Amino acid sequence: MAQPSIINLYRESGALLEGHFILSSGRHSANYLQSALVLADPQRAEALGQQLATKVDAKDYDLVVSPALGGLIIGHEVARALQRPFLFTERKEGEMQLRRGFTISANARVLVVEDVITTGGSVCECMAVVREHGGLPKMVLAVVDRSPDSDDRFELPYHTLLAMNVETFAADTCPLCAQGTLPAIKPGSRGAA
Ligand SMILES: [Zn+2]
Repeated sequence: MAQPSIINLYRESGALLEGHFILSSGRHSANYLQSALVLADPQRAEALGQQLATKVDAKDYDLVVSPALGGLIIGHEVARALQRPFLFTERKEGEMQLRRGFTISANARVLVVEDVITTGGSVCECMAVVREHGGLPKMVLAVVDRSPDSDDRFELPYHTLLAMNVETFAADTCPLCAQGTLPAIKPGSRGAA
């Protein structure tokens, strides 16, 4: 799938929201990507996982690891496509951890998979946990990069299916607020309007 068809997939799923949004950072934006709405369709999730899996050679990896919650579905689909085990890290009391009896064997070659990357913070925390447990993160894959201009965040090979620079505004200088026609909402606080 080329970039436009990935965008269309988001649009068709109602996952490319257009309006006036308050992001988790507190900044405002006219667009929001809600990947969970694409991944809610198992066939689309599977297709995206297969597409990401074409970026790597399965024999170069021992397992796939994703940061919860965002990376869970797509990470599992990539792992299925590569026929590798899938584990996830998760935050407990704010700290990323490996729980649930998951273990990583020494020097295991790890593919890290995320759905949407904005700052890359969750991926970096996930990689740190993998290293603490003796694994070796080798590559990062994501469906969407929302800030593709920030280079070399992971110091690892990195591929996404869709790079989309979403312009954001400080709340006090937001042109959408200045227009005053559309109130700012937090994505997820109502339906995918
Ligand atoms: Zn605004």
